[in-house]
Amino acid sequence: MKNKYQLDPSSKKFICPKCEKKRYVRMIDELGNYLSAEFGRCDRSNSCGYFNYPQNTNPDIMLDLALPNIRFLSKKDGPPSLIPDYYVEQSQKEYERNAFYLYLITLFSEQDIQRVFALYKVGTSRKWNGATVFWQISIQNEVRTAKVIKYDASTGKRIKQPHPLMTWAHRLLNLKEFNLKQVLFGEHLLSHFPNQTVCIVESEKTAIIMAIKHPNYLWLATGGIQEFKAEKIKVLMGRNVVVFPDTDFHFDWSQRAKSISKQFNLNLIVSEYLVNCTISLDQSKGYDLADLDQINVDIANSIKREGESYSNDLLILIQRNPCLFELIRVFDLGDF
Ligand SMILES: [Zn+2]
Repeated sequence: MKNKYQLDPSSKKFICPKCEKKRYVRMIDELGNYLSAEFGRCDRSNSCGYFNYPQNTNPDIMLDLALPNIRFLSKKDGPPSLIPDYYVEQSQKEYERNAFYLYLITLFSEQDIQRVFALYKVGTSRKWNGATVFWQISIQNEVRTAKVIKYDASTGKRIKQPHPLMTWAHRLLNLKEFNLKQVLFGEHLLSHFPNQTVCIVESEKTAIIMAIKHPNYLWLATGGIQEFKAEKIKVLMGRNVVVFPDTDFHFDWSQRAKSISKQFNLNLIVSEYLVNCTISLDQSKGYDLADLDQINVDIANSIKREGESYSNDLLILIQRNPCLFELIRVFDLGDF
C-alpha cells in the first residue's frame, strides 16, 4: 500500500521537537496539508535522530491547517505562468461580434475605439458568441492571462443572469497547473507613456471608456477591489497616480491606498470626484466613471422629484456637467 504521508518535498525546515534546532522536516498528507508537528524527521540524524512517521492506519493523525497547503505555497513561490503572444494576436479581430465593441460604437467613433482596443490589445472570444478579452500583459510584455467577459451589446452591462458570464483565458485554453499571477489591466502601456498621469479604476470596461474619452491620462484597471493590492501597484513607483474608486467601496479603497502608499513611498491620490458627484444619489449602487451619463440622468431625475422649479436650461447644464469644476480641481490640471 502506498504511503498516504510523506516528508515535505520542499524540505522547508521547522524547529525540531527534540533538539530545538531549525533542522526539522515535517510530514504532509496526499493533498499537501501539513500533519501536526510531532510527525517529521530531524536532519541531524546523528546528533539528534528524531523521527516519527505516522502509520497509514493511524486514525488519530491531525492536520496542521494553520500552515498553508504545500502545493499552494510552491505554486505561489514559483514564476508566473505565461500565455504565448500568438493567442493575443489571434484574438484581436472579429470586433463585429464583440458585444462590448458593439455597445461602444453607439457612443464613440470607430476610429477612437479601434485606437484604444489596439493599445490595450482587447480581443474577441467566440465564447458566449462574442465575449470581450481583456489581456493582462505585464510591463515586461509577458501575457499573464486575460479576463473574458460577455456584455449586453445594447446596455453595455455585464451579463450576470442566470449566472455571470466571465472566465479566464488560461481556463479556456485548458492550461494545467497554471500559476496565475495577475497584473494591472493596461500595465504594458506604462513604458509606452512614461510621463502620463496614471488613473486607476476598478473595471476593465471603465478603463477602456475613459481611455477613449480622456487619452491624455493612462487608464489602468485592477479588475476588482481585492486586486487593488501592493504587489500589483508597486509597478507604479515613481509615477503620478490618481485612484477613482467606485462609490460603494470608496472608504475601503482609501484605506488600501493609504497602506500601499506607506509601503512603497508612493503618493496615491484617491479622487473624491465620484462620491462628491453622487452625494444626492444612492452610492451603494456602485457608480463608476463610466456611469457619468447615468449619474447626470439620475441627478436630474432626483431634482425633478423634489419638485423644484429649475429652468430647462439649468437642467440641461447639470445633465451635461454636474461636477465639471470638481474634476478639474482633483487633477489640478486644466485639460479636461
Ligand atoms: Zn533534532
